[in-house]
Amino acid sequence: MKHIFGPVPSRRFGLSLGIDIIPNKVCTLDCIYCQIGKTTDLTLQRRPYVAVKPVITELKKILKPTLPPIASLSPCLSSGEAGAPLGREPKRVERIDCLTFSGCGEPTLNSNIGKMIFEIKKISNIPIVVITNGTLFYKKDVRKDLLDADIVAPSLDAVLNFKKINRPHKKLQINKIVNGISEFKKIFKGKLWLEVLIVKNFNDSPKELKSLKKAIKKINPDKIHLNTVVRPPSEMYAKMLDWKKLISIRNYFGKKCKIISYNKQHDAKSNKKNISKYILEVLKRRPMQVKDIQVVIGIDKKTILKELWLLERKKIVSHNNNWWTLNQVKIKR
Ligand code: SF4
Repeated sequence: MKHIFGPVPSRRFGLSLGIDIIPNKVCTLDCIYCQIGKTTDLTLQRRPYVAVKPVITELKKILKPTLPPIASLSPCLSSGEAGAPLGREPKRVERIDCLTFSGCGEPTLNSNIGKMIFEIKKISNIPIVVITNGTLFYKKDVRKDLLDADIVAPSLDAVLNFKKINRPHKKLQINKIVNGISEFKKIFKGKLWLEVLIVKNFNDSPKELKSLKKAIKKINPDKIHLNTVVRPPSEMYAKMLDWKKLISIRNYFGKKCKIISYNKQHDAKSNKKNISKYILEVLKRRPMQVKDIQVVIGIDKKTILKELWLLERKKIVSHNNNWWTLNQVKIKR
């Protein structure tokens, strides 16, 4: 099984079976908050990175014993939920709510995505979701390729600070991207859910939010999903926005807008068990210092250290100088 992962529980999409059709890490952007890591191939060139047949063959094996999808999709859970493969082999499962193109890069860079959607529709009636950064929607062939999907979820994080936060390929222009997504929305029969991820001090200024609101109005999405940095980012200076500010941005964007990130800061403070869970989640990615863990989960140093020492006593983590590492043991959740 090379291209299918999950199913991953997702607040936005329910139980989502992921389809990864891009090598790690090929993308049109190199976002400072990317949970997958730095982009190694920054490109706008669409290529047949993965052929149609192996994807359909894998899917057929997994979908055969599944039950029909539930009538409606579950409410949102978190950002990047159907993001990178979790290193798990997909199992034969009893229920899948959607099939989601996402993974280790930008899925619309695969020039076979349209054919894949077409072939999947022949073998399954499970809704197809495409999580995309939306940057290639200015291309007519990309817009055409996604028309048969059921939900398309592009992202738009900034207009004025687009280059700072998303570090795009040098030929990308934000106006062309917004126009492209807007053109797609006009002809798309499915649902378009726009994700906006806010990074503290990068795209939370009143001026930026005003420009974003104008762009969102032009796109006219069915839903706006507001998010912040809740997973270990590519750049440690990409910090989460606090909950109160997220709420005020949600109110500013209006009725269609919903916050989809975990309120980790609040949850961690209110539930001791969560603190160790979040620390382990962060250390799963790579060894870190306490100050880095602090940035990601947003709680004080003393509390983090206390939890780390407890985890060390249980031999779940270990440390060398200031660096904390997750041991190779099975963790009971
Ligand atoms: S668009 Fe997605 S995959 Fe590409 S760099 Fe940004 S967050 Fe990572």
